Amino acid sequence: MPTISTSTLSHSANAVSPATSLRQIWWPTPALGATALLHAGGTAALIYDPLAWPWIGGGLLANHALLTAAGFAPRSGMLGPNLARLPTAAAARGEVALTFDDGPDPEVTPRVLDLLDTADMKASFFLVGERAERYPVLAREIVRRGHCVENHSFRHSPWFAFCGVGKARREIDRAQRAIADATGFLPVYFRAPFGIRSPLLEPALAAYGLRYVSWTRRGFDTVDRDAAKVFDRLARGLAAGDVLLLHDGAVSRARADGMGVLAPLHALLARLAERGLRSVTLRAACAAQDG
Ligand SMILES: [Zn+2]
Repeated sequence: MPTISTSTLSHSANAVSPATSLRQIWWPTPALGATALLHAGGTAALIYDPLAWPWIGGGLLANHALLTAAGFAPRSGMLGPNLARLPTAAAARGEVALTFDDGPDPEVTPRVLDLLDTADMKASFFLVGERAERYPVLAREIVRRGHCVENHSFRHSPWFAFCGVGKARREIDRAQRAIADATGFLPVYFRAPFGIRSPLLEPALAAYGLRYVSWTRRGFDTVDRDAAKVFDRLARGLAAGDVLLLHDGAVSRARADGMGVLAPLHALLARLAERGLRSVTLRAACAAQDG
């Protein structure tokens, strides 16, 4: 039976409610700090010279447009820390991180787990909280096979990026609880639905000690029915330190061959072995860095 690290178990033993520690205190990025200053300066300027409102309004609109664009750039660090590649030490060990979003799914996830077992590779599964609630045995099976489960929101709403702080926090909290109840694991990483990030997300993540993860490359396996093209997107430029995004959710099941992710995953695992690369969980790859 796979070993689950004691640090992971201690996470699961923690209360799910927000706690305070140094790593959980939110510090705005330079872009968000500049935004706050711009708003304060704009308000002061408006009081001093109300006729300047077109310039001030235009400046604030441009600022908001920039932040919105950053939210649609999945690998941007403008809105907060963003793990898009593994730390240098993990890359030096020849590690990559396979990550799967949108599960668990009773048809797809067991087959993904079997492929990973055969290749002796580990992965991180970004679970949708309500699916972990619906399929707790399957969620536990992911952990039993030595993989990690992380947070991909509770409902996977397409509107998640447009939630206010309170609603985003409730989505994150419900998913933390659902995944911890099902598996005994408390997630430590978060990925936003559809990879779209709100400028208001980072404070909510910090309250739960969660770190944001995007990816180095993705296969678009939920939208492209051509397995060869999906594999090519993942394998082109493949290198140690890559974070690779695939999906084991219901959309994958709906693909033409019934299991969109399986063929490219099978080929990708073979390619990793050929290159001497090893997929590990994000927690294992970042253990030294996270302390
Ligand atoms: Zn997703």
